Amino acid sequence: MNQVAPQHDPRRLIPRTDALLALPEVAAARRRLSADTVVERVRAIQERARRGELPPQEVAAAVIADLTRARASAQTPVLNATGVVVHTNLGRAPLSRAAVSAMVDAAGYVDVELDLESGVRGKRGARTRSALLAACPAAGDALAVNNGAAALVLATTALAAGREVVVSRGELIEIGAGFRLPDLIASTGARLREVGTTNRTHLSDYADAIGPDTGCLLKVHPSNFTVSGFTSAAPVSELAQVARDRGVPLVVDVGSGLLAPDRTLPDEPDAATMLNDGADLVTASGDKLLGGPQAGLVLGRADLVQRLSRHPLARAVRIDKLALAALEATVAGPTAPVVEYLHADPERLRARAQALAAAVDGTVVEHDGRVGGGGAPGVPLPGYAVRLPESIAARLRTGTPSVLPRVHDGFTLIDLRCVPEADDSRLAEAVRAAMRAD
Ligand SMILES: *Cc1c(COP(=O)(O)O)cnc(C)c1O
Repeated sequence: MNQVAPQHDPRRLIPRTDALLALPEVAAARRRLSADTVVERVRAIQERARRGELPPQEVAAAVIADLTRARASAQTPVLNATGVVVHTNLGRAPLSRAAVSAMVDAAGYVDVELDLESGVRGKRGARTRSALLAACPAAGDALAVNNGAAALVLATTALAAGREVVVSRGELIEIGAGFRLPDLIASTGARLREVGTTNRTHLSDYADAIGPDTGCLLKVHPSNFTVSGFTSAAPVSELAQVARDRGVPLVVDVGSGLLAPDRTLPDEPDAATMLNDGADLVTASGDKLLGGPQAGLVLGRADLVQRLSRHPLARAVRIDKLALAALEATVAGPTAPVVEYLHADPERLRARAQALAAAVDGTVVEHDGRVGGGGAPGVPLPGYAVRLPESIAARLRTGTPSVLPRVHDGFTLIDLRCVPEADDSRLAEAVRAAMRAD
């Protein structure tokens, strides 16, 4: 029915692949992209023209537009205007400049396992270990692995594979995206011995469960929810006493990665306090409240940390050299962005919000930031936001720079807590552009 005589088929007008590849802009893209990637993108645009989605005479321009923008990695930097400090969907902690520069240095050949003085093999991660021990003197030894889940599973596997991990029913948590700690622990062959109830677990529940088959006691910080009302949990100091009396190690998963107490988050457990209270091992994430790269930390008794590092599973959860470098720089370097944002001065936030509101014709409103995926559920971080029409949110996200605001109650809210102050003017420009298109 819709047959077109071949000589009139507009598809014959689609430029040939070799002609498109010869365009100077396309040739220039070869400095950023592989030959296969360039050809694939060119073909995809030709294909759109064949399907009738693009007039043949616009193919060359579309190819140029596409390849001028294309980069080898398409991850887009985002200004986080949500007020959520550890934003899971934005990659958790943004790295400090010191950590970024350490990562760049580590990207090439680097002395990660070499002693440059002697020229012989050095211990991987030795400097990161020293930095962790200096920052958390309560720990006898430290080990960094791939992430928090790996730290926990390495601890329970090395201490309790084929044996029992005694844990409270109130702490059998799901950490997000369907991953459940009990499944994780059981996956490597330790058996969970659940004690107590969802809301109350007593010291005696643990004590009664300890037997010849006990590999370790585990206490998990329920970092993403709170239970209130008729609740009871055994404090680490008392649990540690039971563990010591019965000769079984106590592992505490604090999750957030605080190495020392933070007054802003009084209910958030930290590694130093847990170790001083008698925990034998503490596990934590590197990219939550510590503010570093994705990593898992194991801190505590030297003999146990050694046991973990010698376990075969340690190799499978090994931290990469980039994260090792960034972790060292986070711990030894200047205050990490996460820590700064957490403690942002509300008056400063108000002044910045007022300046932005004036520039974009918005309204300053009080707005609580959040810790986010890092922990401290429900703890408000008092601050301010600029209120704007809801309709601009999508354009903010897809603009340049990309801005992620909070959309709430029919408004777009721009909270500057997690935006570096140096980016305030870029942000204002992005908002103005999104408003103009409204
Ligand atoms: C976040 C968290 C984990 C998992 O850490 P990842 O670094 O995401 O692997 C484990 N336990 C607790 C208590 C956590 O909060």
